[in-house]
Amino acid sequence: MRYLIGRYHEVALKGQNRWRFTAQLKRNLLDLMADYRLGAIRSEGPRLFAELGDELEDAVAIERASLLFGLQNFTLSRAVPADLKIIEREVLAAVQGTSAKSFAVRTRREDKRFALNSMQVDREIGGAVKDALGIAVDLDNPELTIGIEIFPERAFVSIGKHPGAGGLPVGVSGRAVALLSGGIDSPVAAYRMMRRGLCLEFVHFHSYPLLSRTSQDKARELAAHLTRYQAHANLFLVPFGMLQREIVARVRRPLRVVLYRRFMMRIAGAIGAQTGAQAMVTGESLGQVASQTLDNMQVIERAAPMPLLRPLVGMDKNEIIEQARRLGTFETSIIPDQDCCTLFVPRHPETHARPEEVEAAESTLNIQQMVTEAVNGTERVELRFPPRKAAPGVQLTD
Ligand code: ATP
Ligand code: MG
Repeated sequence: MRYLIGRYHEVALKGQNRWRFTAQLKRNLLDLMADYRLGAIRSEGPRLFAELGDELEDAVAIERASLLFGLQNFTLSRAVPADLKIIEREVLAAVQGTSAKSFAVRTRREDKRFALNSMQVDREIGGAVKDALGIAVDLDNPELTIGIEIFPERAFVSIGKHPGAGGLPVGVSGRAVALLSGGIDSPVAAYRMMRRGLCLEFVHFHSYPLLSRTSQDKARELAAHLTRYQAHANLFLVPFGMLQREIVARVRRPLRVVLYRRFMMRIAGAIGAQTGAQAMVTGESLGQVASQTLDNMQVIERAAPMPLLRPLVGMDKNEIIEQARRLGTFETSIIPDQDCCTLFVPRHPETHARPEEVEAAESTLNIQQMVTEAVNGTERVELRFPPRKAAPGVQLTD
């Protein structure tokens, strides 16, 4: 029988609340593998064990498990009786045909009654592999790592250990809405908060039909990419162009960007409230652009109906770009588009907006009505990962 064995990341630090984290992690694993049958899943000490069905390929299991927040690392392991000869046979079968030139055996003995200690098992099994394949032992930098874990009833044999996604299981920290532009920063911000256990909904503001649909397409693609970490999410596409026109008609140029942002806060907050969100997430970083001075951030935040989380606030652009590349969102983010905030943007936007002048400018607007109209015109796109597969002969309707 083949198992996914995950070793907990921060979950391991949780005391009394630990069961909440491990239960959520199990649910998330089931969601991420929804198109495959899994056997029993159980949590034991610092590990999660999930029985994998035969039809699930190793490569798919690895790809999915690496999306699961809460794991430090994981292995795909085969269970065998805890008997040295049988372990050796399993290891030799697993390494057969390898092209690796060096290897190491790493044993953990959870059952201290097992006749040999870890080092002795390493040596015994290592000797057998060396004899069979003629490749060298390299304890520092092996091309092939053979893992053996010995428990009272049985042992687990694995080849290679994969890095987990780290962090906390999505869902344990509650829900939030992430404001997703088509840019580089906001997907990274969303990722960082999911990794802290938040389950996100995504909100994108667009100015279609005044501008092209490109920003929406980018937001869809980015949101779909991020949804792989939490299996299910909604993307709310908010029409923003008419509202911007109204602001342009009534508000002097330099203040417009700050007002756009304040409306984004109100609208995303209203959508968030309907989805049970307790916070909003943006990709703002202090001083990065004109709208992100401390003064402006403060004025913008005042319009937010719920706490604002800015996970990138202390990161510089290079750090953010590096993370976007690792996350796999960078290439989509740099596709040229017309962001709604480039529409009607003054050449010299206000960098130090004062609350009184902003409130005075807004007093000429029917704020409630503008927010309600934008919310009512919002399109909801439901996203799932893995995409739902139709059973033979069944048509899916959404
Ligand atoms: P990004 O790369 O995320 O677009 P940015 O450096 O371009 O960030 P701004 O354009 O000032 O920064 O936006 C700051 C934050 O406001 C974004 O990170 C995002 O969270 C939110 N935001 C901006 N424009 C939009 C939009 N069109 N739809 C949704 N959220 C937006
Ligand atoms: Mg932007």
